Amino acid sequence: MPPWPILALFVAHWASSVFFQTFFLHRFGAHRMFDMSKGWERFFYLCTYVTQGSSFLNPRAYAILHRMHHAYSDTEKDPHSPVMIPNLIKMMNHTRDHYRGLLTGRREVEKRFLGGYPEWPALDRFGQSWTSSLLWGALYAVFYLHFATAWWHFLLLPVHWFMGPVHGAIVNWFGHWSGYRNFETKDDSRNTLPFDFLTFGELFQNNHHTYGSRPNFAVRAWEFDPAWPAIWLLDKVGIIALRDRRLDKSSAVDEAESPALLDPAE
Ligand SMILES: [Zn+2]
Ligand SMILES: [Zn+2]
Repeated sequence: MPPWPILALFVAHWASSVFFQTFFLHRFGAHRMFDMSKGWERFFYLCTYVTQGSSFLNPRAYAILHRMHHAYSDTEKDPHSPVMIPNLIKMMNHTRDHYRGLLTGRREVEKRFLGGYPEWPALDRFGQSWTSSLLWGALYAVFYLHFATAWWHFLLLPVHWFMGPVHGAIVNWFGHWSGYRNFETKDDSRNTLPFDFLTFGELFQNNHHTYGSRPNFAVRAWEFDPAWPAIWLLDKVGIIALRDRRLDKSSAVDEAESPALLDPAE
């Protein structure tokens, strides 16, 4: 019999963690694609902490790092570029050094990258502590000890422990290395999957680097960004308010004011 509880936890943890990364840290924190009340901001901040658990990413550091990635995409100042650092482990170490420098305040930040991101110092302090990481790590392990029915199930545990960096590695590496391009951009961004079920839209890097403030990362009729329907619904029920509705009416981009789409066969 398949290990249903293990599978359920794995899928739920993967999906919820990547959803709050793309919805809260990326589209809200780094890009401010929509607004929300302070109360909802706190609620989603907490959701981000709970779903990322042992690998909680600080929203301020994430936003600065990500804004640098857009400004310096695939150049020497990019905090994570597989074009500059083709070795995945080395690229991740480079990103981690940047991230830690931002957390400790050792790394100087250009003024234009500052501000506009959510901040909750008390939760940040606890979320980044060893106490928090070890507690979450132990919680996943206890669940596995209870429900695992084969030794190899435990091989999935490190994915739970490092969920945030695992998603980061997939998006930052594949998204600028493998896939197709819809638009000519200065960087090497790519759309890795036409239906990005793995990282909820984050792998539409080429579309996103072209339209940095567009909340739907899918552009062509046959592309699907799984986070978009949830964001659309949150806007419709009034929990968030999208900033630029012009871009959100359909998945088709208004060609008159847009960069030309490349031939799909290219
Ligand atoms: Zn990118
Ligand atoms: Zn972005």
